Amino acid sequence: AGQLFIVATPIGNLADFSARAIEVLKSVDVIAAEDTRHSKYLLQHYAIQTSTISLHEHNEQQRSDALCQRLLAGESVALISDAGTPLISDPGYRLVTTVRDAGIRVTPVPGCCALITALSASGLASDRFSFEGFLPAKSSARKQVMESLKSDARTLIFYESPRRLLAALEDAVLIFGEQRQACLARELTKLHETIETRALVDLIDWVKADDNQQRGECVLLIEGSQNEATADEQEVSRLLKILLTELP
Ligand code: SAM
Repeated sequence: AGQLFIVATPIGNLADFSARAIEVLKSVDVIAAEDTRHSKYLLQHYAIQTSTISLHEHNEQQRSDALCQRLLAGESVALISDAGTPLISDPGYRLVTTVRDAGIRVTPVPGCCALITALSASGLASDRFSFEGFLPAKSSARKQVMESLKSDARTLIFYESPRRLLAALEDAVLIFGEQRQACLARELTKLHETIETRALVDLIDWVKADDNQQRGECVLLIEGSQNEATADEQEVSRLLKILLTELP
């Protein structure tokens, strides 16, 4: 059988493309792309002439079965998405599980990922974090998600549409409080890249003061809760309570 390569592509700056990724895309029999027209630009830029077929959320299962047959017949396949790492808020999960279930090797070719890129320069704690994908579009559902994460000690990472950015920040202030630190990472690796970390209440003012901050692509990161008692602390306070009742 052939191999399925999961190939990360740039998130803006075309130079962020590894030599190995280019080599793999040139050598496979077919490239499955989220949007073949969108990817044409990148492939042309690197003189990659491999044929492409589409694989998006609406045809993924059917395409996965067909690609699996081609892999079993000995062909090799690469999966790319419009930007960054496939499967990260992008199609590919069903293809990977289908192909793995068939006993075919899946090889990652790593590269850009917006959430990791944002986290690495945000100034927020990076030892533990939780990627939460896109926030819900409706405020009530969005607040519910935020509420469930309120006491999480890990840095929280969200993808957000620029159209909903301000609304999401306003909900975030309500749930996480004005002083929680947050980072807006926008247009990463592109000409107008900005990475701004401030208390939520100040970040809102900063976004409002400059319309450009509500354009382009963005990642929103929110500092983890500083109040969450660790498991150890919870255990200490439980034991203390017991001991106190035993005191004369
Ligand atoms: N697979 C991609 C990855 O590895 O990051 C993510 C795909 S998801 C459909 C697209 C979202 O990723 C955007 O709405 C934005 O939140 C984030 N994103 C992608 N490129 C970005 C960039 N250059 N700057 C900031 N955020 C970006």
